Amino acid sequence: MSASSQPAGAGGASFGDSDLADPEHDVAASYALDPASVRALTRRVVSTTGREVPAYTPITGQPLAMVPQSGEADVEEAFARARRAQRAWARTPLAERAAMLLRLHDLVLERQDEIIDLICWESGKARKHAFDEPLHIALTARYYGRTAAQHLGTKRVRGVVPGLTQAEVNRTPKGVVGIIAPWNYPFTMALCDGIPALLAGNAVVIKPDAQTMLSALLGARLLEEAGLPEGLWNVVAGPGRELGTPIIDRSDYVCFTGSTPTGRIIARQCAERLIGCSLELGGKNPMLVLRDADLDRAAEGAVRAVFSNAGQLCVAIERLYVADQVYDRFRDKLVERTRAMTLRPGLEWGSDMGSLISQDQLDTVVAHVDDAVAKGARVLVGGKARPDLGPYFYEPTVLEGVTPSMTCFGEETFGPVVALHRFHDEADAVSRANEGEYGLNASIYSRDTRRARALARQVRCGTVNVNEAFAATFASIEAPMGGMRQSGMGRRQGAEGVLRYTETQSVAVQRLLRFGPAFGMDDKTYAQVMTANLRLLRKVGRA
Ligand code: NAD
Repeated sequence: MSASSQPAGAGGASFGDSDLADPEHDVAASYALDPASVRALTRRVVSTTGREVPAYTPITGQPLAMVPQSGEADVEEAFARARRAQRAWARTPLAERAAMLLRLHDLVLERQDEIIDLICWESGKARKHAFDEPLHIALTARYYGRTAAQHLGTKRVRGVVPGLTQAEVNRTPKGVVGIIAPWNYPFTMALCDGIPALLAGNAVVIKPDAQTMLSALLGARLLEEAGLPEGLWNVVAGPGRELGTPIIDRSDYVCFTGSTPTGRIIARQCAERLIGCSLELGGKNPMLVLRDADLDRAAEGAVRAVFSNAGQLCVAIERLYVADQVYDRFRDKLVERTRAMTLRPGLEWGSDMGSLISQDQLDTVVAHVDDAVAKGARVLVGGKARPDLGPYFYEPTVLEGVTPSMTCFGEETFGPVVALHRFHDEADAVSRANEGEYGLNASIYSRDTRRARALARQVRCGTVNVNEAFAATFASIEAPMGGMRQSGMGRRQGAEGVLRYTETQSVAVQRLLRFGPAFGMDDKTYAQVMTANLRLLRKVGRA
């Protein structure tokens, strides 16, 4: 593994370029970011508390910005603004709402350097992993922009009496959607669930994670620049434990992405209010390498899937099951590729993996690896923190000999660590992949894609990628994405990703016939006529 500790350098966009003030004398200043650019973002937080908290960059641990904090009254104000704006937005023609998303697509691609710089500063991830974020948002905005009418237009359905009952289904917005988002993909997670919510005619109140407010606020600014009317996108800031309940208490629907324990709390609160929610939660995602797999391709996919964003990716692979016949060859290729990775802090292209986001994340990774090693696991490559590169750097790590007694066997590490396991037959591999409580993402490598697709149907995960690790499903926006079992409820992306934000309303127009006895018929005769009709409709093949 090669490493270089060159200082963080700006990636060429407005955020890193201007004169830097000294935060020791000016709390609103920053060593890294231009304070005026920062304030242009942070003023978007709905906040009257007068409280601010500092945000730091994991690249160096230095302060980035002071972020205003919201209280319950601010949440109230955010919802009031959202409700006012939503009424007009719901009446705005669908084509106009869709056009706004297509403009967002163009803007995100045009401004990708600025977006990526900010993501790198806030999250410490490698530039190539930050690039995935504007890419995903552009794909999402384009997909929903282009398919608006298909999902949300009024649909004719069969009426009960052919020709005489004309039935149709309308999709009406829920109202105001509350979004609670995590830090790991701060730009993507701030926007990807809100895009279909807006398309469906809703307003949004969003609480991004405290560690990555700026990337989320840049998303808010780009929405405004794409033409989203005022009041439809409202950002509040503060700890989830404090703002979660006030948000849920006022939402008509809640979209949450984060850990499974927090997801349970949110589900309980939504159930109490009888409002819907979608929960995108954790995973312990397996990859199966079958004996006929292209091993170079599988090793490349594994490295990308295990170490993207230093493993802080919900669909990252943490368990590798490899066929006996190819185990040694695959292990050698994986170790060789991992050892060749370049670790470098900063904003430049060329780093294969960046930093973890925080001390908490680093502590979890260290605890998982140390526990595994203490109980007999072998470190094939990596296994060490790298304070020489940055405060939260940890080496990409491959473990062998991980057993059920070790924490990292079944618990999500959410870091750059994978356990290699050997399997003898495929049925056994599938049942081991299905072990545990999670069911988010899986991957199967095989040259026989028919067999791999058949195996995929036996894997209890919301997405399964064949000859890819995670990107094929994640970037196919028409394909729903989410978790089975403890990995979540509901789906983002595809039709489900937008329909969750709507209520269905059925309208039926009845002609001539009425649903009761007519022409002096008694109730018994009416029942007999209806029964004969049902039999007839069954015979002629009518549903
Ligand atoms: P987390 O649950 O601690 O926090 C996520 C968000 O919830 C943050 O905004 C936080 O402030 C808020 N929050 C925390 N406690 C809350 C409460 N009691 N009420 C309301 N909101 C609360 O999760 P995290 O550690 O920040 O994120 C990492 C987790 O997210 C991992 O488990 C990862 O797998 C998961 N994740 C899942 C997906 C997916 O699509 N399935 C995507 C990204 C991350």
